[in-house]
Amino acid sequence: MKRLLLPLLALAAWPALAAPRHLPVPGGVAVVPLQAPAGKAPRAFFGDTPLAVVREEGRWLALLGIPLETPPGRLSLRLEGSDAATAEVEVRAKDYPVQRLTVRNPRHVNPTPEDELRIAREQEIQDRLKRHFAATAPVTAFRLPADGRLSSRFGLRRFFNGEPRRPHAGLDVAAGSGAPVRAAAPGTVVNTDNFFFNGNTVFVDHGQGLISAHMHLSRVDVKEGQRVAQGEQLGAVGATGRVTGPHLHWAVFLNGTAVDPELFLAPAKGR
Ligand SMILES: [Zn+2]
Repeated sequence: MKRLLLPLLALAAWPALAAPRHLPVPGGVAVVPLQAPAGKAPRAFFGDTPLAVVREEGRWLALLGIPLETPPGRLSLRLEGSDAATAEVEVRAKDYPVQRLTVRNPRHVNPTPEDELRIAREQEIQDRLKRHFAATAPVTAFRLPADGRLSSRFGLRRFFNGEPRRPHAGLDVAAGSGAPVRAAAPGTVVNTDNFFFNGNTVFVDHGQGLISAHMHLSRVDVKEGQRVAQGEQLGAVGATGRVTGPHLHWAVFLNGTAVDPELFLAPAKGR
């Protein structure tokens, strides 16, 4: 009993609005403290893109999702309603490992011209979903949306059937077909389409540009526009789209860029 109690207490102590882990690398998140006059939320921008600003233990924190292709060096945020006009972020280098995969459907590696049209159309839809900025303050203390081993981590440099393709922009959870997929945090379901690469997908908008996508589902249990609570079932694990077998691909976007979902999870043993 004693052994069970400790992790439970640790979980209860995890604040509901805990900021993600600060990891200023490509594909990471910079957590930037802001000084502001009392009572009013400051605003932060990266270029023209608004950033999530959350409050934790009486402090304002701007959250910057750093694109995977960002070279090491200094980035500047523009601030409004803050004591300073700008904030600097020093991006460090990170080398992600290589992963080689074999997929059976050759069209998933070299799509036909007709497939390319569909892919371009879907890219536009997904880019729009990723960039959406709702005013609602997000809950950033996520729970893993499926039970299982973390099989492919974020950022892996990928080769499909020997050919270089885009890096792995999400986290894979090994779970059997039909296993429940649950919302990592409260939000609104904003899309439930079937995509060429991603298969049946549920996008959940958590607020302020924090968005998660659950891919390759065998079944979708929610509708667009539906509000979901943390832990509410969205659908079931499957093998739709470009996959080597059933699993959940969970992607997390901040200010329109894919970031490492593990930064939003409470530290756990074995991770
Ligand atoms: Zn994946």
